[in-house]
Amino acid sequence: MNPITYFSAEDVSGALAHLYAGVDANAGPSKVIAGGTNLLDLMKERVMGPQQLVDINALPLDQITPTPDGGVRLGAIARNADTAYHPLVRAQYPVLTAAILAGASPQIRNMASNGGNLLQRTRCHYFYDTTTPCNKRAPGTGCSAIGGLTRQHAILGASAHCIATHPSDMCVALAALGAVVGVRSSAGERRIDFADFHRLPGEQPERDTVLAAGDLITYIDLPPAAQFARHSAYLKFRDRASYAFALVSVAVMLDMGEDGMVRDARIALGSVAHKPWRVPAAEAVLIGRQVDEAAFAEAADLLLAGAQGQGQNNFKLTMARRAVIRALTQAVEGTHDNTEELTDDEASL
Ligand SMILES: Cc1cc2nc3c(=O)[nH]c(=O)nc-3n(C[C@H](O)[C@H](O)[C@H](O)COP(=O)(O)OP(=O)(O)OC[C@H]3O[C@@H](n4cnc5c(N)ncnc54)[C@H](O)[C@@H]3O)c2cc1C
Ligand code: SF4
Repeated sequence: MNPITYFSAEDVSGALAHLYAGVDANAGPSKVIAGGTNLLDLMKERVMGPQQLVDINALPLDQITPTPDGGVRLGAIARNADTAYHPLVRAQYPVLTAAILAGASPQIRNMASNGGNLLQRTRCHYFYDTTTPCNKRAPGTGCSAIGGLTRQHAILGASAHCIATHPSDMCVALAALGAVVGVRSSAGERRIDFADFHRLPGEQPERDTVLAAGDLITYIDLPPAAQFARHSAYLKFRDRASYAFALVSVAVMLDMGEDGMVRDARIALGSVAHKPWRVPAAEAVLIGRQVDEAAFAEAADLLLAGAQGQGQNNFKLTMARRAVIRALTQAVEGTHDNTEELTDDEASL
């Protein structure tokens, strides 16, 4: 039995003080707990062993509010379900609604928080199996996935130390939207562009993000994106039709003129790298052009430049290319509101 202390924070400064007390007083690592849907599993599997839990569920960070610039602020502990169905999100960011509802199950989405979704860990089998070497779980022990089971693994941005993917659906849409993550620490508040928030594994795969110990996510800002609302899509390809992590997913957003020309474009791939994958050149190649399959294929090839399979996941190279082309084709036809059909689907679970 490992002793653990539990603190329920009533305000942000109290939470930060306890997070730092845990770090600085050699009391072992402190961890924030929000919905607990990932952290508790990791603790039960002994993948993570915090000695102090700082519960943030009582903090006033559950609001979803308009921002003065016309965007929307998502509180860090607003639930994934409340976020997906919020009228501001549905109206202005349908790609985010679709991405969240493509993930997990209704019960999990009711518990899962927005901040926790960003910080969920990889679903690499070896990361969860403490009998196997894993540089992400135990730095310096090696990577069991290289030469092992790689069906889920990365085709882009991998390193010789880790080939894991980030499994979130929500984060793929946030990457396409160019969200900004608000973080508090003892040094004050800072804002991190979503593109810089998650890391590639490099030589330190144990670090998923640029956050430091003791940092608290307080909000996620969505910039105004009304120009994309009519032509967006989120597609997710997986082994089961629901309640499964993506093998490949893609979020696309197009701003299209009446003449059918693309004024602006966003494309982000999920479950192909250690972070959601965006390449500015793949978006730029669509701007000022009439949309057709040749243009979409060109964008997909730029997005996947340098992609490399690990053997068992070679199919992702073709799947990702087709996913991008299909999502862009659907986005041109118009954003599809999938909230009703997903609700029906969920009811049958
Ligand atoms: C069976 C199952 C299926 C799933 N399927 C999918 C899926 O298909 N797609 C998908 O995207 N996700 C899926 N998930 C993952 C789920 O979305 C995440 O577990 C959830 O979003 C995590 O949020 P949470 O609030 O429960 O985080 P917690 O488990 O409470 O925390 C996760 C991590 O974030 C840290 N943390 C939480 N909030 C903050 C904060 N504000 N500041 C700093 N650190 C913080 C915690 O310390 C911890 O390290 C699935 C989960 C399960 C269990
Ligand atoms: S891919 Fe990453 S998470 Fe998986 S075993 Fe290798 S180091 Fe660990």
